[in-house]
Amino acid sequence: MRLCEMTLSDLPNVLPESKEVDEFVFMVANTLKQSLPDQLYAIQLWAVRRLGADTAAASDWLLIERVLKDNVMKEMVKAFGAESVVANWSIIDRPFMYAIIETTKLASGSDNAILLDHMVNLRRQMAELDRTKSNFIQVAAHELKTPLTLLEGYANMLRDEISDNNPLMQMYVAGLDGGTARLREIIGDMIDLSMIESGSIKITHQMVYLEKVVRQVARATQRAFEHRRVELIVEPFEMEDLIFGDPERLSQVFSKVISNGLKYTPDGGQVTVRAQLVRHEEATEQLDGYIDVQVSDTGIGIAPENLERIFQSFGGVGDVALHSSGKTKFKGGGPGLGLPIARGIVDAHGGRIWAESAGFDERKKHGSTFHIELPRYKSAPAKS
Ligand code: ADP
Repeated sequence: MRLCEMTLSDLPNVLPESKEVDEFVFMVANTLKQSLPDQLYAIQLWAVRRLGADTAAASDWLLIERVLKDNVMKEMVKAFGAESVVANWSIIDRPFMYAIIETTKLASGSDNAILLDHMVNLRRQMAELDRTKSNFIQVAAHELKTPLTLLEGYANMLRDEISDNNPLMQMYVAGLDGGTARLREIIGDMIDLSMIESGSIKITHQMVYLEKVVRQVARATQRAFEHRRVELIVEPFEMEDLIFGDPERLSQVFSKVISNGLKYTPDGGQVTVRAQLVRHEEATEQLDGYIDVQVSDTGIGIAPENLERIFQSFGGVGDVALHSSGKTKFKGGGPGLGLPIARGIVDAHGGRIWAESAGFDERKKHGSTFHIELPRYKSAPAKS
């Protein structure tokens, strides 16, 4: 409120009222936690609805946005100190930058407003398509479960019928078991992804020792690593690693990222897990900083344009024709569900997951590092 009044008193000749500026500030604050495309969409929607083809209003708003941005910075420096503001400014600067760009477009002519309106409509249609896709995944997953249960049942019956001295038949049934287990996993992933996309994923917070979860995952994947002659190293977590989280879900995240490390590292390579305490400066009464678990591999690396794309559903970057459902086979590209699920789970814990790599090169093997950053709360977060 104070910010809005300050801003309007700096600009006595503009028409918009304090209530409208207040709404704008509220809209910007709401976008801060959104992904960049969602942030841009919210701002475009605001610009089209609030300003439409009114170029005069757009010119007023251009002034307001600039002065408001300066005032926000001044107030934040007073409250948090210049250093902290400089470190975090890009987060706040971005929505203002988007707003200024969108308003400039509107201030410079009504053709742009029509174009923008069109863009907003397209974006709405895309969101609708996305919802249809999520529904399809959900329905397909549930439909696949029934025949799968039948297959598992017949495989069990077959196993009971086979005598001990028929190794060939035993091998066939083992093959059937492997296939159905993998299919169950993929269906489980499809259901998880649709729950994440619809926001219905449940996280049951309890006390979890993070290093223990990582070591359990490492033990479970050890054989696959030995089979591929890739070394898996888990460095001791030299910190208090007790957090509040869902052990099953977190183990799903580490399992995905660690087995990807194996999958995209040629035989003879290395996958290393280490952790460090970060963002102490953001500690509050409830929060004690973040634990950044880093999973680094010596594999084929990731091209810069794919670093973000791999976290989008079906964002696998390989040729679909080369897909294999092998979980650990070198470069055995899967359906591209793992990382989006991992991101959904980490987001639901209030954390962040992202990838870094010096680029994709199968010969030079730049490797990749996945960061899984989780908040270390002092007590269980209120909402679970
Ligand atoms: P999937 O492995 O089923 O394709 P993921 O969601 O686990 O799906 O991964 C998406 C894509 O990200 C993969 O297809 C691969 O191209 C890339 N990727 C994931 N982890 C790594 C890694 N450690 N090194 C190189 N590329 C990776």
